[in-house]
Amino acid sequence: MSVYVVMAAGGSGNRMQADRNKVLLTLCGETVLSRSIRLFSGLVDGMVIVYRSSDRESVETAARNAGVSFPVSFAAGGDSRQQSVYNGLKSLTASENDIVLVHDAARCLTPRTVIEGVINACREHGSGVPGVAAVNTMKYVAPDHRIVSAVDRSGLFEIQTPQGFLFGKLIKAYQRSDRDGFVATDDASVMEYCGEKVYITEGSKMNIKITEKEDLLVAGGILSGSSRTPFRIGTGYDVHRLTENRKLILCGIEIPHTLGLLGHSDADVGLHALMDAMLGALSLGDIGKHFPDTSDDYKGISSLLLLREVNRLIREAGYTLANADITLIAQRPKIGPFIPEMVRIVSETLGCDPEQISIKATTTEKLGFEGREEGIAAQAVCLLQRNDQ
Ligand code: MG
Repeated sequence: MSVYVVMAAGGSGNRMQADRNKVLLTLCGETVLSRSIRLFSGLVDGMVIVYRSSDRESVETAARNAGVSFPVSFAAGGDSRQQSVYNGLKSLTASENDIVLVHDAARCLTPRTVIEGVINACREHGSGVPGVAAVNTMKYVAPDHRIVSAVDRSGLFEIQTPQGFLFGKLIKAYQRSDRDGFVATDDASVMEYCGEKVYITEGSKMNIKITEKEDLLVAGGILSGSSRTPFRIGTGYDVHRLTENRKLILCGIEIPHTLGLLGHSDADVGLHALMDAMLGALSLGDIGKHFPDTSDDYKGISSLLLLREVNRLIREAGYTLANADITLIAQRPKIGPFIPEMVRIVSETLGCDPEQISIKATTTEKLGFEGREEGIAAQAVCLLQRNDQ
């Protein structure tokens, strides 16, 4: 099942009062289009960019500058977004069950988690459209600016792109809409018109569409906040007391021992140090802030679940773990034999390769609280990498 993108880049600068297509405007030193193309790096097998003929040279330059390794082709845009996307679909050589993501090039800040969510939903349900639950109060307003009525916003979502579908169904829906003269502002509507079920996935407030001048300012703010450096380093340190009648859980696995670690959660000191390192790398506070020990939600919880959530947070912020190095400091029991299993479960939870995770153990030659077996300590260092690197 291959994954392709139809990138709709044929818009005009009308609403922006710009002298050119808004996706060719420069945002923090790079065109909006180049940034949008690169969002899909490592996630897809090919892309067709639909553009207006007058933009040909600029679009091709932007595509080159994006520096992606998947093949990029081009198709001529039509009179409307819908016609342009249809042209893009017709130019794709894909099979029925391949996934096609239709993306508005004006959304150049889409978090990777949003794109992955859409692809996963396509694999599972055959469609995925990111949405964010409406938070503002909604009103119908008459042309004379009089409020007609309030709209119940429960169940209302603001819809974003990329919108993902199976190629066979999507192109059929476009054919039929074209034949019937049905006009919509997004691809989900075209599918719904043809009676297809469309599923919502988790969108993001970061996934803004650059439509008006103010949006460029907001996008610049988001980028300068996240692009100060492509790498971030964090450290974590944690200690838990050893006690009787508790399980000893270290780096996600239970280790047979006469004593266990005391704590509100499963007291997995190794994962706590790792999570603090990951949060610290992005100045997101520590696990005490995200998972307070005053909350019953986290009582006895497996720290692997918390690690999954921390991983989601850093990915939503635009970073992924490059590597982590954890040191467990304990006089007893012998930890060495359990390390391969720890590495396996931690890397699986983080969705990374085992070689990105290092776990070591040391004693303190019977010195200090660890040496007296009063507690176990852990240190962690991690490197996070910005996703567009
Ligand atoms: Mg702790």
